Amino acid sequence: MMGAVRPVIVAANWKMHTTAAEAAALAGAIAAVIDEPAVTRVICPPYVGLAAVRDALAGTGIEVGAQNVHHELAGPFTGEVSAPMLQGLASWVICGHSERRRDAGETDALIGRKVGRALEHGLRPILAVGEQLADRQAGRAEEVVAAQLAGALGGPEPAVAESLVIAYEPVWAIGTGRNAHGADAAAMAGSIRRALARLGWRDAAERVPVLYGGSVTAANIGEFLAEPSIDGALVGGASLKIDEMAGIVARAALTARARAGVQGGSNG
Ligand code: PEP
Repeated sequence: MMGAVRPVIVAANWKMHTTAAEAAALAGAIAAVIDEPAVTRVICPPYVGLAAVRDALAGTGIEVGAQNVHHELAGPFTGEVSAPMLQGLASWVICGHSERRRDAGETDALIGRKVGRALEHGLRPILAVGEQLADRQAGRAEEVVAAQLAGALGGPEPAVAESLVIAYEPVWAIGTGRNAHGADAAAMAGSIRRALARLGWRDAAERVPVLYGGSVTAANIGEFLAEPSIDGALVGGASLKIDEMAGIVARAALTARARAGVQGGSNG
């Protein structure tokens, strides 16, 4: 890519794990082993742990994210949390994770409204997209992901679109121990940027960091970061393990330093 070097990002999705106390303790322990400012590091605990994790991470440079946000600002939505409520607790939010698409029936249009709310309220959305195994086997993976993007980002590009991050997470790779090939993820990252450009999200297409997610570990993160079009990882299971996070972020730091030193360079 031409222009500014994109950041290297490692985002931890703790899903429905950890009480608030456990989250604070784990965040502190992980913070001690991922002291790599070259990497943008984000920890996304359950809602109930946001305040404790924010406090545990104060002064570390590690940022806090939520795993979801409601598409309305307030109202009769029992059990939901809106973007204004996340102010001061989180600066990132995952939108459209496949587990929410599956379990909460979230549609692309709804996910798009969440992304919009996040952007309006200064939260950096990590928009998760990805195909089912049958789609990939049928050679339709790029078409499916492009349709997800079109469904979520169909409106005009907002002025703050540059804070958008896309996580390419093939559904068959999430929590299965079966990761995608680096080359396939890289091809998808290129396809995602072209899809954004076709949608008229030109700033985002130029600058958007594209993360890979799906059974990322310290052992395989290098395969993804070796691809110039991949800018980091959204990590689920391995992000609950201190040693795994240490290895993942250490590898990401090598890439971040290499890319910063060789603007537009090809590898990390
Ligand atoms: C995720 O939760 O976004 C994820 C990719 O999970 P895992 O790393 O466990 O596959």
